[in-house]
Amino acid sequence: MPQPDAPCACGAPPEVVRVDVVESRRCPACDATDERRASYDLLRGEMPPDLSPLGTRARRKLSTVETVALASPATGTAPAVEAPAPAPGSSIGWLEAGAPAPADPTPALGDDPDAGLLPPNTALGVYRLQGALGRGGMGVVYAAYDTSLDRRVAIKVLNAELCRNAQFIERFEREAKACAALSHPNITHIYAIDKARHYFVMELVAGDNLADRVARDGPLAPPLALDVVRQTARGLRAGAAIGIIHRDIKPSNLLIDAQGQVKITDFGLAKAFVDRNPGLTSTGIVMGTPLFMSPEQGRGGPIDQRSDIYSLGASLYYVLYGRPPFEGDSPIAIILKHINDAVLFPERDAVPEPVRALLLRMLEKDVSRRIPDYDALLADLDRVERGEGLSAAAPRRVVVVAPRSQTRRRSLFKVGKLSVARTNLKLGRRDKAKSLLEEAVGDVDAATRNEAAVLLCELFEGEGDVEGVRRMAQTILQDPQDPALAAFAAWKLADLDERAALESLRQAVARYEAILRDPPDELPRAVVEAQLKRLRGQLSRAEREVGATQVVLGSRGA
Ligand code: ADP
Ligand code: MG
Repeated sequence: MPQPDAPCACGAPPEVVRVDVVESRRCPACDATDERRASYDLLRGEMPPDLSPLGTRARRKLSTVETVALASPATGTAPAVEAPAPAPGSSIGWLEAGAPAPADPTPALGDDPDAGLLPPNTALGVYRLQGALGRGGMGVVYAAYDTSLDRRVAIKVLNAELCRNAQFIERFEREAKACAALSHPNITHIYAIDKARHYFVMELVAGDNLADRVARDGPLAPPLALDVVRQTARGLRAGAAIGIIHRDIKPSNLLIDAQGQVKITDFGLAKAFVDRNPGLTSTGIVMGTPLFMSPEQGRGGPIDQRSDIYSLGASLYYVLYGRPPFEGDSPIAIILKHINDAVLFPERDAVPEPVRALLLRMLEKDVSRRIPDYDALLADLDRVERGEGLSAAAPRRVVVVAPRSQTRRRSLFKVGKLSVARTNLKLGRRDKAKSLLEEAVGDVDAATRNEAAVLLCELFEGEGDVEGVRRMAQTILQDPQDPALAAFAAWKLADLDERAALESLRQAVARYEAILRDPPDELPRAVVEAQLKRLRGQLSRAEREVGATQVVLGSRGA
């Protein structure tokens, strides 16, 4: 048990000491036992908690409580995930009677919109939570009250699962730093960050994000939509001036208050453009939201501020028409449309022609023909508002040239087997869909083959059919036809390899654990223990990495 004010092994006096305690309990009625690990964050010099029972002073600083194992005489030992974890806010047995239970500030979030939310009045340092404002891929944003400065603030708390992942913690801290580096009326101000507990504090924007606003009130009138683009462009221009691109511009990351002031939020993917390949993470996974993602970002190629201009164009399309410019059944299908498909407008369109021309210039697939920077965009916005034409020549029409093999026969085929397969999928007739798709995967036409392989890949993945996924990825790689598709297939294969490596690490750990239970005389116990420790370290690192890949690829909403 480390003393809170003891220096670290390296000699430095730590500001915060994390103390982990494992306690077990037994139910007198059914004899079930469980075990919980509690972590405390203590400031240097602070008294250590009273541990048995977990006392009031400790509870104030409690950072996590998790059930780590549960054994019931009826069911035998069950894995930790099946243990009934206490709901945040519910009281747990060993705390002093009548005292409120500690809230977990980094709850795991499921599909239930209220699941894992911290209850009102939860204290985080000097902040008192009031209620959830929204949640995205990274965590939950709460309204809160700053008791030291007597003002309302917003607090973003990183998801519990992501707290265990160094890549997401880095991303989270980068978000706070990127915003803090920018003092601009169109960028949400950051007040403070607590790195130990993974939350940061920012100005509270009294209003909606644009996705919610459009969902509630319908599309925005063109003048308001143009004003949103103007304000966003000003904020992004301030970022670009110090080398920051956002990489995740979309309606839900643009907040608008009652006065119509726009604030850009969620700089979680922001990066400096000096990176050689800023569209990719270190593992080569494309990040961002496919619905609003530029073609170059979807391809995982190098990106600059023009990628944000494209995403802002896609967001403008969304707020004007109430839907994104391209939709599809899977992230990869949407990315391919951004790369290949022409932007279409409704037949009866109330949006004025100059606004549509602006949209086409923002959504230009060829980066060199897109609006090049924010000054040019702001100048074009002025011209559109005055009813004039845009600065440069209108973009050439985007012509999608299909490869030779992909001509009429392919489109006939598409309306045939592939669309029947999709209909069967929608109706839940998986076996029928699978047999149609298996036929299409054998087709001579690469586009048909690939489309079917992507669908089958996802089906097999849902079924845990590793060999099926491998076969489909290899099919795509025979002739991927498109870099994004090649990246998709390569990722699937890499992911399978990672999982196989993980499984063999697990088996190795289990083998060493078995040896340790009954060590042969000739093998010194210390050697086995050292090896086991090393393997466990490797295993936990590998588990974090594989988890990261899964989270990153999940498509995020508007
Ligand atoms: P994520 O990274 O999880 O997507 P965001 O930063 O985009 O998180 O926040 C999620 C939602 O929370 C936003 O869409 C918005 O509705 C709300 N929100 C975020 N920041 C604020 C803020 N400062 N003030 C008010 N609401 C906010
Ligand atoms: Mg967001």
